[in-house]
Amino acid sequence: MNTLKLTMLDATKKRTIIQVGNVKVGEDFVVIAGPCSVETEEQTLITAQKVKEAGANMLRGGAFKPRTSPYSFQGLGLKGLKILEKAKKETGLPIVTEVLDPRDVSWVAEYADILQVGARNMQNFSLLKEVGKIQKPILLKRGMDSKLQEWLNCAEYILAEGNPNVILCERGIRTFETYTRNTLDLSIVPSVKETSHLPIIVDPTHSTGKLSLIAPMSLAAVAAGTDGLMIEVHYNPKEALCDKEQAMTPESFNSLMTKVFKLKTFMESL
Ligand code: PEP
Ligand code: MN
Repeated sequence: MNTLKLTMLDATKKRTIIQVGNVKVGEDFVVIAGPCSVETEEQTLITAQKVKEAGANMLRGGAFKPRTSPYSFQGLGLKGLKILEKAKKETGLPIVTEVLDPRDVSWVAEYADILQVGARNMQNFSLLKEVGKIQKPILLKRGMDSKLQEWLNCAEYILAEGNPNVILCERGIRTFETYTRNTLDLSIVPSVKETSHLPIIVDPTHSTGKLSLIAPMSLAAVAAGTDGLMIEVHYNPKEALCDKEQAMTPESFNSLMTKVFKLKTFMESL
């Protein structure tokens, strides 16, 4: 960890708290929910309303999608951002959306409350430098084959450019296991807490890729001390254009949130 300067936890043990709307990330529990990608106005607005009712305090949705195949749905781009803007107006939920290209950072930042740098771009150093030049919070996902030190070095790039507002997001790493899409590395949560002052949230959706595992791993993440969760929810998963096999229905998300909030309260009483 000796190349790290700005991301390390120092002797004061002071932790970064990032204000997003009325949520203090790092202090309040964050629940970011919404579809994998913005598809239509109806899909986004209905899903946004439902996740808000279930207790989510931020809305996610990709307008630029990093797809494995160039022939898969790539996202709606600007049109998608305008739909997210409308969803924010209607629900009051801050928007979390991914930026793929350094050339898009400044104008995507006009629509996003948090810009996501996805797992595939964790070590895109041009993108990291560009998001470091703005002050909007950055959600930096862990690369699928990245060690803690490599991940923190990427956060360091953003901080070194002048943007201190970085939230880390564990989204599973590649192992020999194929039953799950990725392997959720929950030990990274307390590992980040003992080495860095940055907040860390967990994405149980991409890390498991399996609907049946999202609820237990969300609860396990809360028990491990996560600052929040990011979960994909679609009002009609069967019709989703992206990641439909792992999208929760609003109903199952709602019952999960009841358990998450109960467990969170219990954890705080310990
Ligand atoms: C996403 O959150 O939409 C996404 C593409 O995730 P990841 O970068 O973790 O694969
Ligand atoms: Mn997805």
